[in-house]
Amino acid sequence: MRKTRILAGIGLTAAALLTLSACNSGTPGASPDESGDATEALWEVATDVDLADSPTYDAMVERDGVIIGVKNDQPGLGIEDPVSGERSGFDVDIARWIAASLGFDEDQIEYVTIPSANREQAIVNGDIDYYVGTYSITDSRMEQIDFAGPYFITGQGLLVAADDEEINGPEDLAGKIVCSVTGSTPLQRIRDEYNPGDTVEYDTYSQCVEQLVAGSVDAITTDEAILAGYVAERPDDLKIAGEPFSEERYGVGLPKGDTALKDWINTLFTDGGDVWTALFDQHLAPAGISGDQPAVDE
Ligand code: GLU
Repeated sequence: MRKTRILAGIGLTAAALLTLSACNSGTPGASPDESGDATEALWEVATDVDLADSPTYDAMVERDGVIIGVKNDQPGLGIEDPVSGERSGFDVDIARWIAASLGFDEDQIEYVTIPSANREQAIVNGDIDYYVGTYSITDSRMEQIDFAGPYFITGQGLLVAADDEEINGPEDLAGKIVCSVTGSTPLQRIRDEYNPGDTVEYDTYSQCVEQLVAGSVDAITTDEAILAGYVAERPDDLKIAGEPFSEERYGVGLPKGDTALKDWINTLFTDGGDVWTALFDQHLAPAGISGDQPAVDE
């Protein structure tokens, strides 16, 4: 029964949930939702945060708000509604969950859309407090920043036109034009380890999708979790070709050396109970993505 009630609860927007939980802290499970049924928020905004030795958290407290870097064009993961401006998706909710654990509600969050190529610099510059957006943990990125997590694992795949019969894996890319995003691990890997006819790069994957649908590129390569979101939106136009050919471990990008914040987020993930599964079931499972919550790195 508990799980059923949680899943009923996530039918509300996360913003509404945070409002509900903020109004009802101390009485979890007792908040009426709009239909009048009892529901249960996935998390409460913390009121008694005790986080020492985190310069990033100190800056959040000082400005009374948190600034989070995200994506805005990745269905299921990080989306911004162009009309309402509302943000949604698995990554966005992971970002909200972290903010709530630090004592910040939706009104105190500022989202900044940052493309793949600019993530490390935004963190190094202090433009954002943390980044949640299909951000693979890699050694070269860890020279500049730290990561909490991983909180999700996927793998690099290929997106092609639904009627494409020729491309069934990265070995079939000879003579083909492949689109990906500047500064991403999949673009680097397809160039380093495979032999596509040509590669073109854009700032965002949605720009690549437009090129694929227009027929000006033959394939898109990035993480399957991202590609599955585009297929779910346009199943008549797009399909995933073949099997994943890398391991992409998603982390929360953090300022280098803020070990206290990294440990805080890792503890949240480890002790988070049903939250991860509820978010996965809401945002990723509907696109046919499977997976379990990974253990965080030591
Ligand atoms: N996970 C890969 C990366 O971090 C690809 C997705 C992205 O560009 O955000 O580069």
